[in-house]
Amino acid sequence: MPEFSPQALDSLRAPLETGEVMVARANHHVRYPAQVQLVAAQNPCRCGIGGAGRGHCGKAPRCQMAYQSRVSGPLIDRIDLCVDVPPVTAADLALPCPAEGTAEVAMRVARAREVQAARAAEPGGPAAFLNARAEGTWLEKIAALDAPAQALLSRAAEAGRLSARGWTRTLRLARTIADLEGQPQVRRLHVAEALIYRRTAPAVGGWSEPVAASLGG
Ligand SMILES: [Zn+2]
Repeated sequence: MPEFSPQALDSLRAPLETGEVMVARANHHVRYPAQVQLVAAQNPCRCGIGGAGRGHCGKAPRCQMAYQSRVSGPLIDRIDLCVDVPPVTAADLALPCPAEGTAEVAMRVARAREVQAARAAEPGGPAAFLNARAEGTWLEKIAALDAPAQALLSRAAEAGRLSARGWTRTLRLARTIADLEGQPQVRRLHVAEALIYRRTAPAVGGWSEPVAASLGG
């Protein structure tokens, strides 16, 4: 991601928020639909090796700071899932394949989307059924938190870890995590997992090879 210019990266902010691209010229402006699922990756620094572990970057931490700061905080705030991907070790290669394969995960995702579609078909439901597009009173209704979950989210906000946008996006993500588990109620555990995926600002040394995705529901 940091190989693109900061201006090009920041032009993604509006479409990621609104699902539309607006092209403005002297006398006209045109809106185009642009609901995307953004999947992006970046190295820890320009050298690609970062500041942690064996053979670390000789220019750390400056190399990482300069590289990671090309992706702005407001853009990161619009990315729902940030996942560190540590280097693969020899021990990792010797591990057996994961018990749950891609086909099984795909079925779980399809079931979660069916749950979202059925919920949105209820009276008062929105036209766009995915949690990723839920907002306002509809989001409050479908992602109503129990008391421990509410307390955890409030603590994260008070600690400055969440913007107003981050709060909404964490609710959507917690709802989706609960849907993937087949749970009707969003609980503390779901909010805690959603918060793990949020990144508030580029953290030097914290990202090895992050894969980030704007959640498509
Ligand atoms: Zn470096």
